[in-house]
Amino acid sequence: MAKYDPKSLLPEEFINDEEIRETLRYADENKHNVALIDEILEKARPVKKGSGCYCRGLTHREASVLLACDIPEKIERMYEIAEEIKLAFYGNRIVLFAPLYLSNYCVNGCVYCPYHLKNKHIARKKLTQEEVRQEVIALQDLGHKRLAIEAGEDPVNNPIEYILECIHTIYSVHHKNGDIRRVNVNIAATTVENYRKLHEAGIGTYILFQETYHKESYLKLHPTGPKHDYDYHTTAHDRAMQGGIDDVGLGVLFGLELYRYEFAGLLMHAEHLEAVYGVGPHTISVPRVKKADDIDPAAFDNSISDETFAKITACIRLAVPYTGIIISTRESEQTRSKLLRLGVSQVSGGSRTSVGGYAGYSPEERPHDTEQFDVSDQRSLDEVVRWLMEHGHIPSFCTACYREGRTGDRFMSLCKSGQILNCCHPNALMTLTEYLVDYASDETREIGYRLIEEELKRIPRDRTREIAAEHIEAIKNSNARDFRF
Ligand code: SAM
Repeated sequence: MAKYDPKSLLPEEFINDEEIRETLRYADENKHNVALIDEILEKARPVKKGSGCYCRGLTHREASVLLACDIPEKIERMYEIAEEIKLAFYGNRIVLFAPLYLSNYCVNGCVYCPYHLKNKHIARKKLTQEEVRQEVIALQDLGHKRLAIEAGEDPVNNPIEYILECIHTIYSVHHKNGDIRRVNVNIAATTVENYRKLHEAGIGTYILFQETYHKESYLKLHPTGPKHDYDYHTTAHDRAMQGGIDDVGLGVLFGLELYRYEFAGLLMHAEHLEAVYGVGPHTISVPRVKKADDIDPAAFDNSISDETFAKITACIRLAVPYTGIIISTRESEQTRSKLLRLGVSQVSGGSRTSVGGYAGYSPEERPHDTEQFDVSDQRSLDEVVRWLMEHGHIPSFCTACYREGRTGDRFMSLCKSGQILNCCHPNALMTLTEYLVDYASDETREIGYRLIEEELKRIPRDRTREIAAEHIEAIKNSNARDFRF
């Protein structure tokens, strides 16, 4: 039988079924062990170190005990610590992005996804380079600077050359003061050689959701097509790292399998990346199965309540303190409001999940014919930006880290150094100013300017504060853009 080993490159050893089952048994036995729970909570808290602070994180076993615990005041404590960690490492900034669907041609049989091969009534579409340009102009006109490109898996219709061409097109469009400065990529598992090509094309994070860590269920949920190969899928992030991409994103599609199993598997995956490459996942996404063309979420009987979803998110924050946690528009405004207090650091806004969903449509119109799933939060980007500010967050369009070479462990060092107030914070304020000047409604602009004035005062280093204030004035009074620390 395979033995658990986070350093192994074999999926059955680093995501080890027996270890997950043992973890769940241990969590059940200890879910009311208050002394142990207090000890784990104490371990999760940020500790001051010099000008910064650090967090020890939690093992998958420790975090699984917290997830199993149903004592209300302990859950409250988890939520408080999750917020404490988020504020310590990411401050009150929330990074914004939008998905861009390139093609819904797909040869896989994923039973939860409307793009599956057997779905003959969904319209199939693949953007031409001119259509990519039009989508990017529309996204720039909304104010986006960071995209996540999405595509089905189809070696004939969407080969890697097509994806690379699209990335090239996206980076080449500069409409008015617009710019896409970071393209994250969510495409199917591929080869080291292809990951190297993506790295050379200048992508940000390579994101791939495991969907489920439960191998038996995985094989049933992906009955046909290349994605059926669980081992190839589970080792994709390793190949991405080997191809030179050092920011990789993990995720589980909650609702497919028992959430406690998924949670332990997800943390083991993070531990594996840390053990082998010295750097954990750059991001973790927490999507839930949604209604879509020919997909009824009720068909998946492992759906989780909003309370459980909140607890999972908070426990991820405690266990993997430096990772970015992403919540998409699959979730409603109400759910997103709650999760923003529990450690989430990135949200999408103004999203369309159809191929060609941005160009030529008014904010109220949404095409459904090629859509991947129903979007719950249908507000415009301007509304999302305003809402974030009204809840005390700074919406950030910053993409500086990876453009300054701060990827992988260099990003993690910045995160731990306590320099975010001298670096990420001013970058967030400058990119928010760009948004307010170029794209915001009058009401949002007014709220934003007041917020920026207050937030500038929090930059500790005098010289940095002065430079940031000068740049902000330059953005307001000229077309000078893209300042960064
Ligand atoms: N084809 C790639 C792959 O297989 O990873 C790319 C990504 S796909 C466009 C993006 C993600 O959407 C999938 O990984 C899946 O988790 C999610 N997804 C698919 N169907 C969904 C549904 N009905 N509700 C919510 N998310 C869904």
